[in-house]
Amino acid sequence: MSSKRRRRRNQCASKIRHKSMEDANYAAYLLRRDKGRLIHAYKCQFCHHWHVGHTARQRTREKLRRLLSLAFEGESKSGKAGGAED
Ligand SMILES: [Zn+2]
Repeated sequence: MSSKRRRRRNQCASKIRHKSMEDANYAAYLLRRDKGRLIHAYKCQFCHHWHVGHTARQRTREKLRRLLSLAFEGESKSGKAGGAED
């Protein structure tokens, strides 16, 4: 790794870059499973690769609500796991 003096946004510089959405989604999926947190894949506006990270706070709340309501509806549905909407 070459040392970079320029600081990009933390969100970019300190993160793993995935070259495809599939890779990033899969990484997000593993992290979610492992940590049980709201983690998703998103395309970076700085490096144009894909990162995995938490959602912004407000949206996290919304998503959490949605996830909770979905959980209450029943987890029995084995829906498609790959549908990243955003
Ligand atoms: Zn980036």
